[in-house]
Amino acid sequence: MFANIDVHSIYLVLAVLSITQALLMFYVRQVHYNSTYVAEWARGNGLIALGLCLVVLSEVISPAFLSMLSYMLIIWGSMHIAFGVALVSGKRPQWSLCRAICVIFIVACALAYSVDIHGIGGIVLFTLASSLFFGYSIYCCYTANRDELRGSLLIVAMLSAAYIVSLCIHLFGFYLANVNHPAQNTLWQSSALIVNIVLGFAQTIMLIVITSHRLQMDLHQQATHDPLTNVFNRRALSTLAERDIARSNRRGTLISVLMIDADHFKKINDRFGHAVGDAVLVAIARKIQAGLRTEDILARFGGEEFLVMLPDTSLKHACEVADRIRVAISQIALPVLPGGHRFTVSIGVAERRGVQQSFEELIEMADQALYQAKKSGRNKVIGSKPTPVAVYHTQDAAEVAVA
Ligand code: GH3
Ligand code: MG
Ligand code: MG
Repeated sequence: MFANIDVHSIYLVLAVLSITQALLMFYVRQVHYNSTYVAEWARGNGLIALGLCLVVLSEVISPAFLSMLSYMLIIWGSMHIAFGVALVSGKRPQWSLCRAICVIFIVACALAYSVDIHGIGGIVLFTLASSLFFGYSIYCCYTANRDELRGSLLIVAMLSAAYIVSLCIHLFGFYLANVNHPAQNTLWQSSALIVNIVLGFAQTIMLIVITSHRLQMDLHQQATHDPLTNVFNRRALSTLAERDIARSNRRGTLISVLMIDADHFKKINDRFGHAVGDAVLVAIARKIQAGLRTEDILARFGGEEFLVMLPDTSLKHACEVADRIRVAISQIALPVLPGGHRFTVSIGVAERRGVQQSFEELIEMADQALYQAKKSGRNKVIGSKPTPVAVYHTQDAAEVAVA
């Protein structure tokens, strides 16, 4: 069936469709202007579209030179598509290595054409180079560390594998043309090109699906996380707290919270600058997170205040956790702080009293305990008791109960 189709007409259709795909990707890039992977895909599609236009043009003027140039553009375009796949898979692309490989293949391709303009050498090198970049895309998809995109990336990997097969079929067509089987050549080449049209469309659809999925994930992350410390923000905390409180009511289990506030943080800002203050906040958040279980929730509650929710945890146990965190933070040695300057936190701890108590009331109790910790000298953990408040741990970690 394909033998009757004119190869040049298929090339023309392929070129027009690839221009459409490139325009589509450039439009997506406009919308997601700060996504590096979309920029790579738009660049890749643009180069491939340009390459295919030159293939069509090469039928009209100076065939050999233009078809050589078109192969180079398509190789370069495939590399950019692979870069985009690597970025979206959560990997650092091998920029220099890939560019070096690309240049080597392009130079080899040009040499092969200059030796024999109608020979098969150039097309073999083109097939090898493009397959290499599609192979790199497959590798990135399979080893991606983004579970949410696994399904889409698997489809991209399969499409890339199909591309490699179609490139091989295309090469086989050229080989047959070289050994003088023009009819066979047309059949193989037409089949490869038609498969290419389908693959091109499927790939563009998948790249757009992945882009919108990633955008959704990014928006969710921005809506629920603090941009500086990457822990939950206050809005996410309310939602998660509601869920945990409902669970604790159902099961009759305890919940405790820690209210953690950096000591004399204003002085750190004033002495070392706001950027250093930011670095201290990040270090504090990391250290708190390191001392928690997976089911615990850490949120940035205010400027230099963090709140931790500990499900299934009594006041006594929560105070122990809080003190471990306090000690760990006091031992942080940040390189950005001159002269080995250390910083500390004060922590108020509260346990939820009965199913009637709201999350806001629980926070209020922890805040009161924090106030006591600040008042009695800072760098302390104080557990909230009805009245009076009990000091759980002092600076030197000795337990002193204040009646
Ligand atoms: P205390 O021991 O009583 O808690 O004293 P403090 O200085 O830590 O408390 P205060 O509330 O007086 O100051 C908090 C400072 O935290 C003031 C504010 O400029 C700073 N701050 C709030 N958010 C940020 C932030 O995102 N980055 C930086 N660098 N500083 C912040
Ligand atoms: Mg403070
Ligand atoms: Mg504060």
